[in-house]
Amino acid sequence: MTKDKLEKNSKKDTFGTYFTKKEARNLFLSTLSHELKNPLNSIIGFTQVLTTDSNHPLSNVQQQSLTNILKEGYHLLDMINAIIDFLIIESGELRIMLKYVELDSLMNEIISQTNSLSQQNDICFLYKTDHFNEFVKADPLRLKVILLNLLSNAVKYNRPGGEAGLACTLVNDDMIRIIVSDSGIGIPADQLDNVFEPFFRFNMETSDITGLGIGLSISKKMVELMDGRISVESEEGVGSKFFVDLPRVKKISGKSSIKNNILGIKKEVKKKILYIDHNKANITLIKSVLRRRSKIGLLSAMDAKKGINIALEESPQMIFLDINLPDKNGYDTIADIRKQETLSTIPIIAVNPDMDLNPIDRINRAGFDDNIKKPIDINEFLKKVDYFINNINH
Ligand code: ADP
Repeated sequence: MTKDKLEKNSKKDTFGTYFTKKEARNLFLSTLSHELKNPLNSIIGFTQVLTTDSNHPLSNVQQQSLTNILKEGYHLLDMINAIIDFLIIESGELRIMLKYVELDSLMNEIISQTNSLSQQNDICFLYKTDHFNEFVKADPLRLKVILLNLLSNAVKYNRPGGEAGLACTLVNDDMIRIIVSDSGIGIPADQLDNVFEPFFRFNMETSDITGLGIGLSISKKMVELMDGRISVESEEGVGSKFFVDLPRVKKISGKSSIKNNILGIKKEVKKKILYIDHNKANITLIKSVLRRRSKIGLLSAMDAKKGINIALEESPQMIFLDINLPDKNGYDTIADIRKQETLSTIPIIAVNPDMDLNPIDRINRAGFDDNIKKPIDINEFLKKVDYFINNINH
């Protein structure tokens, strides 16, 4: 590209470097995700620390207030994720990773995640998914987002004492249908074609049901990228049924869960974890979480260079590495760490602020042993710590 053309199609950053529009947009999305999720990470994380600290039990009122903060925090996180997904879809950059997905276990996960939703809203959930021993080809993370969104709508647009359902069935030899149904307010026939359009919200000027009006349009795009189809049947005042049809996988062989089979020996010496993240509040959070593991000490660094030096000097047992460091991205940093002879096999966990910008296949290819989403869920964090520290001899 000539300099003239480059200047026309690109923007200069503060150092005078040229970005293409696409690069600038990706950078914006990554910054947006980072800047919004980091403070929320701290809010959710510290609230979890307070609510689960058995050494300092809370009064009922305190516990209730913190439960409300957590609930609203997760709601805000859902909305931020939806907006970022929407912007990524609009920019044509959405990536889908197709896998064989076992419906039984996916449905069980969904059911356990929606338990509190049904209890809080006085809706009776009916699940007809037991022992549906079938597989579909889908992106499991996205499929979960889609089904949770449909179930949350089934609750939102319902009535007190109403019902919501989740079921699976065979459409034909090649397709499987997941059905999310409700006995709620329904959608008028002349509006049915609009529900998958972005920003469509029926009668919402007269209703106090909150929402952004983008969930169904995101779901449609995701299902179509999985070679599937989403559709709806509804009757006003009676209820709605949303159908997600996905390609069926007829036979799966060689299912294995190698990690779960590793058994290890616990050693009584104090172990060290290195946490590299440029956000101070995240480091403070991890420090306070690790107080629950008395035999583990925390080392921390706020940039890649310092992190690598500490790793060389201290030989920790595992490293958590933020993918978005200011001086170097996580992919280059892990390459530099692995080059060091003493660190070539150390477990390194990617701390991933954005699954869209850093999909799992990229993380695996870069040599990470595992990854954890930001905001960090402290139970998931401790599980990974326990797993890598206790089960692996290195
Ligand atoms: P949101 O729920 O945030 O408004 P969605 O994209 O999920 O956005 O849904 C778009 C619109 O479709 C909703 O505003 C609502 O009018 C209608 N809708 C979605 N699901 C249902 C449902 N289960 N019952 C009745 N109306 C629904």
